[in-house]
Amino acid sequence: MSQFQCEIVRQKRKTLGLYVKHRWVEVRVPMRASKRDVETFIATHRDWIEERLIAEAQRHKNRLRIEHGGKILYKARELTIEFRDNRKERVIIEDKTFVIQGHKLTPAKARTIVEKYLQSKAKEYIVPRATGLAQHLGVDKNITDIRFRKTKTKWGHCTSKGVLQYNWLIMLAPNSVIDYMISHEVCHLKHMDHSKRFWSLVDSVCPNSDRFIDWLREHEHRLYF
Ligand SMILES: [Zn+2]
Repeated sequence: MSQFQCEIVRQKRKTLGLYVKHRWVEVRVPMRASKRDVETFIATHRDWIEERLIAEAQRHKNRLRIEHGGKILYKARELTIEFRDNRKERVIIEDKTFVIQGHKLTPAKARTIVEKYLQSKAKEYIVPRATGLAQHLGVDKNITDIRFRKTKTKWGHCTSKGVLQYNWLIMLAPNSVIDYMISHEVCHLKHMDHSKRFWSLVDSVCPNSDRFIDWLREHEHRLYF
């Protein structure tokens, strides 16, 4: 029987809940739960916990690290990262290599170069497409700003004030997925919810969006750094 670390958190709640983190498990329990309740709960969920821990460890291992010789999932292809010494800082995609060029590169410096690269690519790719689609849908006047931010939980966002926000890490994803994200947020300028009307509008400009949502769900942990 394998062991795992458990942290018991007592909360104002009615049921016991399990949250598997990287390498450890958080058990949230009601204030009054007895030690035995907690132990029984953990014991009955042991198999599930162990499966999840293995899956989490796998995700952690696959996360994106910007380092020489590392792997990067770029536009759905796995490329090898190469640090190349050069006075000029830039990123070049060569066949199967993701080249990061710069002077005396460290992983930290390389990260910054990749960040700048993705930010400028995001602006260049997303702004004209979002604006164009908004024009097509007759909602371009509703856009007050298009912003780019790296957020932990969101790929895109649209505020009621008409601010479209995109996570520039999306530029690592295939263009079809980026186009879906663009459509999703622009369609919110018309419908601020996830109603049937909203999804049929998304479908009319970006058919088969399920495929792109699934792709993101499966691969998004590999796009973060
Ligand atoms: Zn949405």
